[in-house]
Amino acid sequence: MKLILFGPPGAGKGTQAKILIEKLNIVQISTGDMLRDEVKSKTPLGKLASSIMDKGDLIPDEIIMSMIEKRITKSDCKNGFILDGFPRTLNQAVELDVILKSLNLKIDKVIEINVNEDLLINRIVKRASESKTTRDDDNSEILKNRIIVYNKDTLPVLDYYKSLNKLNTVDGTQDIDKVSKDILKVLNWL
Ligand code: ADP
Repeated sequence: MKLILFGPPGAGKGTQAKILIEKLNIVQISTGDMLRDEVKSKTPLGKLASSIMDKGDLIPDEIIMSMIEKRITKSDCKNGFILDGFPRTLNQAVELDVILKSLNLKIDKVIEINVNEDLLINRIVKRASESKTTRDDDNSEILKNRIIVYNKDTLPVLDYYKSLNKLNTVDGTQDIDKVSKDILKVLNWL
């Protein structure tokens, strides 16, 4: 099973991905987590990434695409994967299709976790106040920019999958359990 989990910052993509990988025995591919690992390891990519992530802007597509291409060709992806936080620009979505085609693979489902903007801001502010290891980008100023960037650069990805009739939407304002159930229903797993 190969899935894309789509949604704005704070929609709960990471939370749902962790539940789904257990149930479906597949791996989570989070470009945000991969980038944070690079930052932690202080690699050259990490140094570049942190200056961009700290502003809530997007990492250039070429960097993201080469990370993804390397990752999805690893052997642990054989049984399937969930893309979480990727694709985030129309160009990433189109290039992903090219890579998948060359590997003779295809995405089974694209799932949008739909949450309205007010709730998102509340959730992220709460995540920032509760977390001991607060993410540098979980503060209100940067958050505002992440939402602007989402609306400008990432929403076109939604229209892309909609136009290809690949989009399935679940209501992300429900309890975590209910959201997972709705996703599993979309996957015909329940
Ligand atoms: P969230 O979904 O909460 O916004 P992520 O962990 O997915 O958080 O991403 C954090 C940051 O990492 C983004 O604001 C961006 O700077 C960078 N990033 C993650 N994935 C991508 C991507 N696919 N393309 C460009 N930048 C990305």
